[in-house]
Amino acid sequence: MRRKMDNNKDNNRSEIDDIDFGIDRYFDEDEELEDGESSSDAIYGCAPETLYEGGESEYYEEDDVTDEAYGVSYGAYETDEPVSEARYNIEREQAPSADNTADIADGQYHYTERGTSVQKRNKRETAQVKRKSSADNAREQAPSADDSAKARRERQWPGLRSNLRVMLVLFTTMFAVLLVYFVYSVTTFGGRWFNNPYNPRIQSEKDRVVPGNILDRNQVVLASTDSDGERVYNDDRHVRTSVSHVVGDNYGLTTTGAESFFSRTLLGFDAGLFERVYSAASGGEARGESVVLTIDAELTAYASDAFRDYRGALVLMNYETGEVLAMVSHPEFDPENMDAYRPKSDSEKRSGESEGETSALVNRALMGRYTPGSIFKVITAAAALNSLAGIDEREFECDGPLAFDGESGVFLENVHISPEEDKKNRNATPSPRPSPTPSETPVIAPGSSPDIMENLLLVRDNDSDYHGDLDFEEAFTASCNVTFGRIGMELGAARISSMAQSFGFGEDFLFSDLILYPSNYELPQRAIDVAWSAAGQYRTTVTPMHMCMIAAGIANKGVMMEPRMLYGTISSREFVQGQRRPSIYKRAITETVATKLTALMKKTVESGTGARAALSNWTVCGKTGSAQISSDREVNSHAWFIGFIEEEEHPLAIAVVLEKAGSGGRMAAPVAKEVFERAIRLGY
Ligand SMILES: [Zn+2]
Repeated sequence: MRRKMDNNKDNNRSEIDDIDFGIDRYFDEDEELEDGESSSDAIYGCAPETLYEGGESEYYEEDDVTDEAYGVSYGAYETDEPVSEARYNIEREQAPSADNTADIADGQYHYTERGTSVQKRNKRETAQVKRKSSADNAREQAPSADDSAKARRERQWPGLRSNLRVMLVLFTTMFAVLLVYFVYSVTTFGGRWFNNPYNPRIQSEKDRVVPGNILDRNQVVLASTDSDGERVYNDDRHVRTSVSHVVGDNYGLTTTGAESFFSRTLLGFDAGLFERVYSAASGGEARGESVVLTIDAELTAYASDAFRDYRGALVLMNYETGEVLAMVSHPEFDPENMDAYRPKSDSEKRSGESEGETSALVNRALMGRYTPGSIFKVITAAAALNSLAGIDEREFECDGPLAFDGESGVFLENVHISPEEDKKNRNATPSPRPSPTPSETPVIAPGSSPDIMENLLLVRDNDSDYHGDLDFEEAFTASCNVTFGRIGMELGAARISSMAQSFGFGEDFLFSDLILYPSNYELPQRAIDVAWSAAGQYRTTVTPMHMCMIAAGIANKGVMMEPRMLYGTISSREFVQGQRRPSIYKRAITETVATKLTALMKKTVESGTGARAALSNWTVCGKTGSAQISSDREVNSHAWFIGFIEEEEHPLAIAVVLEKAGSGGRMAAPVAKEVFERAIRLGY
């Protein structure tokens, strides 16, 4: 180091201007490294490059020698903070000594006696001293004009090396991430990719392999392949259409049915080695395995009848095992006549000949994302029982709508509107449109109401029937929006959201037996939206299957089971595989909260809005909902009921939604009752 510095001692000012570019290395090419010094030491050791990189931190005057360790005036040079390499290096290297303290040719630098500078070091830390000495070293080693090009070339190296190192680490990391993701994807989605009806392998295998049959849990054949190789479905048209969404079709027009989702099994890809060898040795045509579903076709057909002409969906499951016993989606389709449901050309649409419609292919139970309305109050109630101590002993007051500022959505605690006033104005104006954009809908038409009600947003009770003084249980069983709006604001959106997540909102359900679209609780910001979201309005969406899982989870002491559609398989040699074990999806709530919710839901059916779901011999627990989907409150409410039977012999949970059917208590609860009755009669 010393040697090199000495060599460079007589560099002049103009050459040192090059330092601006950041000189990394000050060795001559032919220069040998000192003992124990590696090339990287040389490169890093002598290259406090950042000292010069467009530095602008400190500017030293020529005579500013007083507080410099070695009395260097930096003249017109700008410096920056040294990097760790520089400090590291200087600590390793010898510090400059009095040898260096001669003036350099152009007089821009001055080396003074070391002793002098030490006396004047009083303002700076020792570390800083070392830093400055590193700057000195670099300057002293500034290259000559000849060296400058070389140095410029060579100074690429350290950057390149470190860049290469960074790139290597980056690519290795990316590769590792990609590998992990690939393994995750294949294990998680592999079956789904395969079962995708667009997978050409499925179509080609269908030409080679006779697909297995699809049966219900009582081995009623729902789909089979006839002697001509044609796929045929149950002879009874009513049964066939009732289970159409569960079974699917042979053309891949529906993606969630068993024909698509279990195609791997149906085409024999899941058969064991023994089965394959046996099949090949027997010389007959290749046959896939048959799939036995958990549903009961007769019960499903019965549930389908209960819909009458309404659109909507129903799911009935065993809440201890997760087995789906019935799944209905209206409108249905006929798998024997799929041409009727294919997307139509314009001319076909005009002629109106075909019976089907494309939307009939959507399985609303799994893919229909509905506004939940008041059935969401089970989640708000769970959040309240979970985080508001003593909530079930408190008294509330429901003596008129909650009022919010029409612009900001802020709750106006002191604005009181009597039930009479509200009723009077309600008749003259559209119902409050709580979701999704309450602010865009004037609650009260100008001129039709007292001044105070203009520009207000209201949280109202159904039909402006306010409840007076009531406790938590009464608020739940009467489905009081006013009280739940207040509770929602007290809880805050975050706690409601957190409870919704506990029940599976916002999750990508990756169940092994079915495809279920995710449900969503969008975090509201304004008080009005928080209040409405607590009553299941705002922008919350949920599928009927998910609501059934939630009811089932409450019934099952807080533990949600993974929904099951696959009861078992039958090999081509008629060997029945064992029934699969139930598996837990997640624990949503504590058993204590589940027990309290059960009591609330029991009361709702005993004496509240769910009375029409009551059975004479069995305890039914439930919650109704009339989810408003437009401002026309009579027609455009989805009628909801979720509930379960609180009996060990009949662990049944249900979710029903009838689109645009009006009141959940009047319309959906009786459907649940009919289906419960039938299921019990069938022994479930
Ligand atoms: Zn009320």
